[in-house]
Amino acid sequence: MKLESLRGMLLLAVTTAAHAQTAAPHRWAIVLHGGAGVIERSSMTPEAEQGYRDGLRQAITAAGAVLDKGGSAADAVEAAIELLEDNPLFNAGRGAVFAADGTNQLDAAIMDGATLKAGAVADVQHTRHPIALARAVMDRSSNVMMIGPGADAFAAHVGLEQVPASFFFTERRWEALEKQLKAEGQPVPPRPAGAPPAPAHALSFLEQPDAHKFGTVGMVALDERGNIAAGTSTGGVTAKRWNRVGDSPILGAGTYASNQSCAVSATGTGEYFIRLTVARTICALVQYRGMPLQAAVDDVVQKQLGAIHGDGGVIAITPDGQMAWSFNTPGMFRAKLQQGGQPQIGIYRDEP
Ligand code: ASP
Repeated sequence: MKLESLRGMLLLAVTTAAHAQTAAPHRWAIVLHGGAGVIERSSMTPEAEQGYRDGLRQAITAAGAVLDKGGSAADAVEAAIELLEDNPLFNAGRGAVFAADGTNQLDAAIMDGATLKAGAVADVQHTRHPIALARAVMDRSSNVMMIGPGADAFAAHVGLEQVPASFFFTERRWEALEKQLKAEGQPVPPRPAGAPPAPAHALSFLEQPDAHKFGTVGMVALDERGNIAAGTSTGGVTAKRWNRVGDSPILGAGTYASNQSCAVSATGTGEYFIRLTVARTICALVQYRGMPLQAAVDDVVQKQLGAIHGDGGVIAITPDGQMAWSFNTPGMFRAKLQQGGQPQIGIYRDEP
C-alpha cells in the first residue's frame, strides 16, 4: 500500500474516533468550594465540621440534580450557589462578613464557557441571591458588570427578591467584625437596624467568629452537552473599607470559563488573585501550553501565588472532564461529583 493512502486511512480513523467522542453525551461533573483559609481540625468541633460537610453535600447534590435533568452548567452553578448563599455558615449571601461600616457588601460573578457571556456584581446590599443577579446581568442586560445601588435596582427591576440589610445579619460575623475592629483600634459601628439584640448567652460553636476570614463559595460545572461554566459569590473580607472589591466578581481573577480551556473559581485574599489574574492564567496555561489541568492549577496556586505571598485556593474543570483543586492554606471546604458517582467532600489538607 502506498504511503499516501495509508496516511489517508489513518487520518480517517483518527477523525472518526474524535467525532465519536464529541458526538457522545458528556459525563457531567462538578467541583465546588466553600472558601479556603486557616481551617484546622484543632479549631473545629465535630458539630461544626458536620455542618460544613452537610452544606457542601446539599449544594453539590442539588447541582447534580440539575445536570441529571439536562440543565446547563450555568443552571447548576446558579442552583448550588443560591443554596450556599442561604446557608449562614458560608461567607456569601446570608452569613456574609461585615464591612467596617457594619454593612454587608456582596459580590458575585458567573461565566458561561460556551458563549463567553458573563455577569458580575459588586457591593450589592439588598438582593437575596447575588449569583442570581449576576446571572440576570449575563442573560438579561447588555452589560457585564454592575455595582452598588444600581445593581440592586436592576435586580428589583427584573423581579429578583429584595431583602432588608438585616436579612444578611449573623451573630458570629458581627462578633468577627467587632474583634477585628478592636484589634485595629477602630470604632465599632452600631448594630444594624433590624438585627436581633446582642445575645446574653455564650454563642454555640457554630455561631462563634471563626479564626479564618474566608468562606466564599464557588462552583465550576461541565454539563452533558460538553459546556462548562463558573460562578463565585462572597461577602469579601471582614472589616473591608472604601467599597473595596476583591477578585470574586473580577472576570479572569476569581472567576472565568471558556470551553477553549477551563472554568475556574477562586477563594482567598482577593488582591493577590487580581494581580495574577489567577483564573485566566490557569486557563491560558491549559489553552496555550497544553498543560493538564492539575498541573496548571498547581503552577499558579503553589508557585506563582506563593511567590507573592498570596493565600487561598481554586477549583477548576475542563470540557473533557478533568477536575482539579489546589490551595496553599491549611484547609479549603471543597467537593467533587461526577455523573453516576458519590460526592467526594474535603476540608483539611490531608484529605484526598
Ligand atoms: N476572595 C474573596 C475576596 O477577596 C474572599 C474569599 O475568598 O474569602 O473578596
